[in-house]
Amino acid sequence: MTGERAAILARDLRKTYPGGVAAVRGVDLTVRPGETFGFLGPNGAGKSTTIAMLCTLARPTGGRARVGGADVTADPHAVRRRIGLVFQDLTVDGDLTAAENLRFHAELYGLPRRATRAGIDRMLDLVGLADRRDSLVRTFSGGMKRRLEIARGLLHTPRVLFLDEPTLGLDPQSRAQLWAHLHHVRREHDITLFLTTHYLDEAEHCDRIAIIDDGRIVTEGTPAALKAAIGTDRVQLRTADDRAALAALRERFGLDDATAGPDGLWARVPDGAAFVPVLCANLGVPLLSVAVTRPSLDDVFLHCTGRTIRDAEAVR
Ligand code: ADP
Repeated sequence: MTGERAAILARDLRKTYPGGVAAVRGVDLTVRPGETFGFLGPNGAGKSTTIAMLCTLARPTGGRARVGGADVTADPHAVRRRIGLVFQDLTVDGDLTAAENLRFHAELYGLPRRATRAGIDRMLDLVGLADRRDSLVRTFSGGMKRRLEIARGLLHTPRVLFLDEPTLGLDPQSRAQLWAHLHHVRREHDITLFLTTHYLDEAEHCDRIAIIDDGRIVTEGTPAALKAAIGTDRVQLRTADDRAALAALRERFGLDDATAGPDGLWARVPDGAAFVPVLCANLGVPLLSVAVTRPSLDDVFLHCTGRTIRDAEAVR
């Protein structure tokens, strides 16, 4: 896809902060119009710095990027008109009502009055806050505030909505609800969503993801393709005789990496579902339980970096 048509295009994008921290070390990205694109990585990996450069809030120290067809360095005003932001520190005002918050934002963007009133009602409806239109925002839950921020980010009909850790600090139910609204927003508006998260499970909601670690992209693709690239399922079993079963797994099934752990025995196989009947028929030791797990995005991160995402956060 050419830079003209891509919703977001970055080539060798870099940022070294004064003082010498190389936060982003040559990032390439191509995000298609209408995609939900997840940017994942542990804390300190360079996600916020990358998104700040794409939104013209930080100046790249190398490379180039275009958002909605406009260059972030040469034409930042055009980029700003074409994007909406849902950021941690751009919070809504608790002493204003939901509608007043949106009206204030509309004035900031110089949107015409008549269009604004209809737009506010439409956006509040879109994020499920129509019935709280005139409530003070300080009475809202964390999830409702975040949804109001999404409504505000969409008010000036941007082409790309950037969301930096949109579900951070929300309880699981509010996170699920927020995702339902984001999917709805995407269906209703022809918009590209670009979001950062360090919750790997949330990446399942994205069409494609890129994983960043230490300022560099370590892998990119659809969640399914990234998991398929690992190529193995994990089979966990409990048996009446783990020692004999372990020997059988290694010798009879050729699973050299079969391991005994506190939760029983486990091994990696290419197709777990097909392996289970063969295992039952040929293990020669009574089986008590078998579980098959498909690779997770945690496994993808581990595979690409040699560390779990939590270990990566712990060393920072
Ligand atoms: P993430 O969003 O993935 O947590 P950041 O982009 O915030 O990562 O940070 C990447 C690296 O850049 C970290 O080492 C962080 O400490 C550093 N960093 C972030 N902002 C600044 C800043 N304003 N000045 C200097 N270093 C910074």
